[in-house]
Amino acid sequence: MKHKYNMSSKSDMRRFQRDLKKDIKASVVSAIESGLYDVTCPNCGAVVKVPAGKSKCPSCRGEINLELDVDL
Ligand SMILES: [Zn+2]
Repeated sequence: MKHKYNMSSKSDMRRFQRDLKKDIKASVVSAIESGLYDVTCPNCGAVVKVPAGKSKCPSCRGEINLELDVDL
């Protein structure tokens, strides 16, 4: 057991909720970062699948910077 919480304690309950939120956020972010997304290449207009971040268009070799706005 990594954490111990006393659910009858208000401050522990808050800590539990905060830690839970942090865990969920970390797993959502890693799922987003490992995914591929359909985007329209800004250089050639082709619809291509690219991962988040900087990558090269498979059609024109131009750079695509896919910035995902993750607001959690
Ligand atoms: Zn392109």
